[in-house]
Amino acid sequence: METAAVKSMLAWYREHQRVLPWRSLPTPYRVLVSEVMLQQTQVTTVIPYFERFVQAFPDFAALAAADIEAVLKLWEGLGYYSRARRLHACAQLVMENGGELSDDPTELARLPGIGPYTAAAIASIAFGRPYPAVDGNVLRVQARLLADDGDVSSQSARRRVYERLLAVIQQTPDPSAFNQAQMDLGAMVCLPRQPLCDECPLRVFCRAFASGEPTVYPRRPERRVTPRMHVAVGLIFYRGRLLILRRSEDQMLGGLWEFPGGKLESGETPSQAVEREVREETGLTVEIGALVGVIQHAYSHFRITMHAYRCRLAEIGEPVVACERLHAWVIAEDLPKYAFPKANHKIFACEGFAEGFQE
Ligand code: SF4
Repeated sequence: METAAVKSMLAWYREHQRVLPWRSLPTPYRVLVSEVMLQQTQVTTVIPYFERFVQAFPDFAALAAADIEAVLKLWEGLGYYSRARRLHACAQLVMENGGELSDDPTELARLPGIGPYTAAAIASIAFGRPYPAVDGNVLRVQARLLADDGDVSSQSARRRVYERLLAVIQQTPDPSAFNQAQMDLGAMVCLPRQPLCDECPLRVFCRAFASGEPTVYPRRPERRVTPRMHVAVGLIFYRGRLLILRRSEDQMLGGLWEFPGGKLESGETPSQAVEREVREETGLTVEIGALVGVIQHAYSHFRITMHAYRCRLAEIGEPVVACERLHAWVIAEDLPKYAFPKANHKIFACEGFAEGFQE
């Protein structure tokens, strides 16, 4: 990037930068929390989560001392829950090592949940160190500036852009503004499908704009078809309490709570799957009752269709749950205290769900 382009971008940033809660007080802790939340999540979604999170856990000490259940509860609905567990582990490690974050991206990248992008973002925004933070937005802006139609999703392309920008940012008096200006430009002006070139401070330097077809750049990898999975779950009530199980830490959505159930096996109906899964997961024998709802939910790499059935315990007497995972029988009022995946919240919203608590 030539010097005049950097100057033009920084002038634009001074005037147009987004007002974001972590920018008003960019301490290492707040920058870390915001950057981890922003991994794969939109800014507008992150803002209320960030505000609640830093209010509950204002610094590394508070987060390190917190119960993981409380951390997951505040993360509920933000998705990619391994980020919350890694952030918690990161805070504990920081506290064990004196309570301060390093300003060196290599050191930072050794901490849980911090990759090269987050490390460079923290080093530059919280400490003013000259390291470029290269994410998808930056790759797009850079590909367009140079009319580079290569595949920007590869590691080598990312490395090339990093090296190029490293030389530029080292000559820049304000590395934090440099990185954040590129982030804002990618998010507000150089949009993936409809770039607002007329408002862009880089227009005169941009080869993609000069070509007349800026959206040709960067080349998009071919889209893969997202697979769909059918799962079935059982809503087992006993004396006004609902049975829930905690997912193990090493699973996707680890540490969150859910209903017993799982994937349909070949040739199985959803109700047969519930009966089998409940027996395998809890040792309980159930009779399948009414279908409470069928919901659809999309994760990053697959979609699910989830069938939820009310279940009656087939055995008489106090149910004994034989389960390796943690389980709980919860009353309706306590349900909000537990963190659940979004798909389960869709089941909560189904008509007839709450009736089971009245039995
Ligand atoms: S001129 Fe258009 S394509 Fe080029 S960087 Fe600006 S917004 Fe992106």
